[in-house]
Amino acid sequence: MTRRIVLKIGTSVLTGGTRKLDHDRMFEIVRQCAALHEEGYELIVCTSGAIAAGSERLRMTRQPDSLAEKQMLAAVGQSRLMEIWEQLFTRFHIHVGQMLLTRADVEDRRRFLNARDTLSALLEHRIVPVINENDAVTTAEIRVGDNDNLSALCVLLAEADLLILLSDQPGLFTADPRTDPNAELIAEVRRIDADLHAVAGESKSGLGVGGMKTKLDAADMARRAGACVVIAAGDAPEAIRRIVAGERIGTRFPALDVPVENRKRWILGGANAAGAVAIDQGAAAALAGGGGSLLPAGIIRVDGSFERGDVVQITAADRTNLGRGVVRYDSADVGRIRGLQSDRIRETLGYAYGPVVIHRDDLILI
Ligand code: GLU
Repeated sequence: MTRRIVLKIGTSVLTGGTRKLDHDRMFEIVRQCAALHEEGYELIVCTSGAIAAGSERLRMTRQPDSLAEKQMLAAVGQSRLMEIWEQLFTRFHIHVGQMLLTRADVEDRRRFLNARDTLSALLEHRIVPVINENDAVTTAEIRVGDNDNLSALCVLLAEADLLILLSDQPGLFTADPRTDPNAELIAEVRRIDADLHAVAGESKSGLGVGGMKTKLDAADMARRAGACVVIAAGDAPEAIRRIVAGERIGTRFPALDVPVENRKRWILGGANAAGAVAIDQGAAAALAGGGGSLLPAGIIRVDGSFERGDVVQITAADRTNLGRGVVRYDSADVGRIRGLQSDRIRETLGYAYGPVVIHRDDLILI
């Protein structure tokens, strides 16, 4: 079930292809977000457009030509951009919170956790995080560089279940639709391979920096982190709400069941365990045998308190350390489902995040 959504809005969507931010379009996006917010969804907006807003503000009619000039435009434009988002969300009585990230915020374990905590706190308070890259100060070495990939990193940070990449294109095509009349929209992608990369090419548009290539990379990262990804046109009527409702628009990349090594690196690397789960011998043998995930049935005790997504220690009954992993249920939930068969999770908790407490891809044994 989709609950947490990262919505990436490209510069071309925000400007409608012009050199100015299109407030009506932004309002339309916010209106849909507000309706979803009202229904209980958690939204994270990853917005581009700082540079576009800066050039509009400074009435610059040419493309910025140096890094310093781009950073100047971003500095001017980011506050303007934020002001507009804030005004629009305020019309629906929704607060927004700005987070400006760089690659270092997700690669460094401590900073990753800090950013994750801020994001969780905003969401917990029903505040919509509005995220962009910290363009005014980031240099090439620490930049993500495009907001497609930045939004995928937001999926990792927030453990979101849906990433929507709103673009000026209705999705991914079998060829470039601007030059090939036979180009067809690809409704669903299950494999991202070299052929698909070739189809995506290096397309770029106007003031934004992304294209289909960066969208594919972002989609790949996000689906490996367990999120479904949809690329769709930002101007399609009710696009966001229809995507969330599961309607088939744009190009959809179903989430992979197996989150990646990357995730392991980010999430397990050096974190302090928040608590522990003690498991029985059968479960320990299943984990040690390789290939097994930790199911509620094998858990005999919960020590300490932790949130869903935290790293916890896995121990034997006598507290011998066996390893660590990322839990999919918080400590209160694990306390209630421990010892149960997985098919009883939903009836016990009223919801389920899947049959496993710690997925085998999210655990390391020692
Ligand atoms: N962060 C850039 C901006 O706000 C946009 C990057 C992108 O278009 O992907 O202007």
